[in-house]
Amino acid sequence: MTRDERTVDVLIVGAGPAGLGAGAELAASGAGRVEILERELDAGGVPRHCRHGGFGRRPRGGETGDEYARRCVAAAVRAGATLRTGVTVTGWAENAPADGAHTLEITGPAGLERITARAVVLATGARERPRSARLVPGGRPSGVYTTGELQQAVHLYRQPVGTRAVVIGNEAVGHAAADTLRTAGAEVVAMVTDQPPSPAAALLRPRGRFPLLTRATVTGLTGRTALTGVTLRHEDGRTTTLRCDTVVFTGDFVPDHELARRAGLTLDRGTRGPAYDAEYRTSLPGVFAVGNLLHAVEKARVASAEGRAAAAPVLRHLAGGPPPAPRPVALAVDAPLLWIAPNRTGPAGARPLRGRFVLRTARRLERPVLVVSQDGRELDRQRLLLPAVPGRAFHLGAGWLGRVDPRGSTVRITAV
Ligand SMILES: Cc1cc2nc3c(=O)[nH]c(=O)nc-3n(C[C@H](O)[C@H](O)[C@H](O)COP(=O)(O)OP(=O)(O)OC[C@H]3O[C@@H](n4cnc5c(N)ncnc54)[C@H](O)[C@@H]3O)c2cc1C
Repeated sequence: MTRDERTVDVLIVGAGPAGLGAGAELAASGAGRVEILERELDAGGVPRHCRHGGFGRRPRGGETGDEYARRCVAAAVRAGATLRTGVTVTGWAENAPADGAHTLEITGPAGLERITARAVVLATGARERPRSARLVPGGRPSGVYTTGELQQAVHLYRQPVGTRAVVIGNEAVGHAAADTLRTAGAEVVAMVTDQPPSPAAALLRPRGRFPLLTRATVTGLTGRTALTGVTLRHEDGRTTTLRCDTVVFTGDFVPDHELARRAGLTLDRGTRGPAYDAEYRTSLPGVFAVGNLLHAVEKARVASAEGRAAAAPVLRHLAGGPPPAPRPVALAVDAPLLWIAPNRTGPAGARPLRGRFVLRTARRLERPVLVVSQDGRELDRQRLLLPAVPGRAFHLGAGWLGRVDPRGSTVRITAV
């Protein structure tokens, strides 16, 4: 089969806020031919189908997702990046060029292509784990969504949803799902979480609009062709079924790491995205990664800022690269902490975005002390001023990086 073969300077995979941010900055900085590929027919990533406010620089109010997406697209195009949509990167060519460039396999309306790039930026984002990945038993009735699927159905395709809905998960994204359901004319009969009640959840919950069922686990879906209910097991062992025709599984994001995996990039055990350092370098020289692919899920402005921040290291790579990097040291967390990002040390002096690492926890911790250690040696301890809660980022200052022994083993972060 014939393939169109081309060469560019930087190839960016994914036109969400992260890829568009990287494209805008790189094109404006004279990186040469910068091409952004997006598999959807429209660029903008997840914000494209978010009609709620909370995007951009002013998180309260501010722009809606679709306004924000349009602004990101315009900035990348204005800076001179080539943006192509309806084009999917399917893999990496087997015979990579000897000069350290990378060749990607692409399929689009014009057929198959092979593009060789001196640097590749992966910005493929994250996806919510659907019902199947959560191993929820039952038939395969209609009316079962993730938040992204629901938003696309309602906001992009104007499809009808049901009349009585249950939302699984009570993070911010679950509340976005509840808003979308109400916009579509459905009643939210309950929001369900396996977490205990928390003051933060009470603040998030729109007053008195629907009950929040805490410490409850979904054990099955009922209904053969159309959904009729969601079965729950409560902490005390009781089982109940909520009658509904729509259920939305929210949150529980995983990085969209298929392409990274195919390249054989080292993945981080905690984030499940590519392991990376403060310069957004993955384990493969010349391949960078940005946005929610690295840490599902942060705010869109964080993803965009990372894309823009990755431009400087990409430019250094294009210019011949820094001197060979010392062996990176892995960073890892102990339970109940889930992950830390970045999760590798970088070249000397490289600090993560805003001088801090991002972390997540599996359960609520009241103002924990985060202890950083390596080979039994304590490097730092920092007390958080606020509780750490599941589903929300908290941070660890990077001031201790200079104390890491580059020949030592993994740096561990423990909450005490
Ligand atoms: C329901 C919901 C509500 C949210 N609400 C807010 C909010 O109020 N405020 C806020 O700041 N953030 C919000 N977020 C988070 C925000 O959407 C993300 O932080 C942001 O979209 C991450 O940007 P990204 O570029 O990393 O990934 P994405 O936006 O996911 O973009 C990745 C892009 O890569 C493309 N892609 C993937 N693989 C390929 C491939 N192989 N070839 C070509 N293209 C590919 C995808 O199609 C996608 O367009 C919300 C997220 C969700 C799901």
